[in-house]
Amino acid sequence: MLNDESNPNSKTAWVGRAVVVALAVVTLIALWKTGGTGPESSLVAVVRTPVGIMGTTCTLVAVVPQGRVSAAQQGLEDAERALRQVDALMSTYIDGSEVSIVNRSEAGVTVSLSPSTLAVVAAGREFSRATAGAFDPTCRPLLDLWRRAGMNNQMPHDEERILAREASSWADFEVVNDGLRKTRDSARLDLGGVAKGYGIDRAFAAVEAAGCEGVLVDVGGDVRVGGVDDRGEKWKVVVRDPFGTSVFSSFELGSGSVCTSGSYERFVEIDGVRFSHIIDPRTGFPVRQSPSVTVFADEAMSADAWATALSVLGPEGLADLPSGVEALIVAGDASNCTVHATAAMESLLGVFPRLSCNQGVTTPFLKDEG
Ligand code: AMP
Ligand code: MG
Repeated sequence: MLNDESNPNSKTAWVGRAVVVALAVVTLIALWKTGGTGPESSLVAVVRTPVGIMGTTCTLVAVVPQGRVSAAQQGLEDAERALRQVDALMSTYIDGSEVSIVNRSEAGVTVSLSPSTLAVVAAGREFSRATAGAFDPTCRPLLDLWRRAGMNNQMPHDEERILAREASSWADFEVVNDGLRKTRDSARLDLGGVAKGYGIDRAFAAVEAAGCEGVLVDVGGDVRVGGVDDRGEKWKVVVRDPFGTSVFSSFELGSGSVCTSGSYERFVEIDGVRFSHIIDPRTGFPVRQSPSVTVFADEAMSADAWATALSVLGPEGLADLPSGVEALIVAGDASNCTVHATAAMESLLGVFPRLSCNQGVTTPFLKDEG
């Protein structure tokens, strides 16, 4: 799987015909039925819920006219295959994945890669540039260091942290023909912050290619939608309060993707203190500031990468978002939190978030579009 741990809960729940993008972990309630019809339309929602996708829950929906159910089923099968393929190629939990082979390879040896893995590596490098290194898929040695620290219940020494930071960087990877060559043995990749989004986009394209009126791909609460639901209406995204169970906002989404990174949702614990699974590559320490980041973008790969990046950058990172990418950040903790959003995200939500935490200064953030 691409994520740290199998997550039996999902960030997304289905309530009626709404997609719930949870800022906190909530239980998935699948209320859709395969072949169910909307009351006022002749559209049918064909649903597939494959298990074992990237270590989390998965719901795939194709909305089609009555006569096209088998085409929709084919599209959903293709989507599932695309997701499994992305996992098989890019997961660091799978020994035979292309990323694991690169990580084990010695300097100077070229490892041939599929176009998919090459595309995600190239995108990862671009996101690293765009975030000045806050998003950095080469920080795998640091991820390993903190995972071991959690297992041994012992904080890493400063020297270990500095060594792990220096062990791997983009300068240590060369793209050669259709492969990747390391220039140092110690260089390692981890595409966990972006590959899920790429997989969602691939799955979305597979369902769309089947000729559907509407598509929804949901992998562990990260979603991409297009077209209409089986009532012929826009998909509805509901955002939950990260510190409670209430829904604080919902909005209609004609097309696009919404991904959430919760920096304390997956963590290691050392001496009773929780450390996020997201690392600030610039310091080598796990991030502390943002328990929840929700990002909207046209494509899931972008929403996924920016959600991870903003977990590192915090609210200051909102000013760096490219055009078409919008975000909502909850920083702090339940006793003292602040909420920050880009102006367009605020208008998408319709109302500025009021959460159940003890809310401090709330800062509407104007994105620098220049
Ligand atoms: P997400 O859940 O999408 O925020 O991705 C978190 C995953 O991204 C982690 O489990 C790591 O595999 C990877 N990761 C952690 N920190 C970073 C970072 N600073 N840049 C890129 N990937 C990261
Ligand atoms: Mg991500």
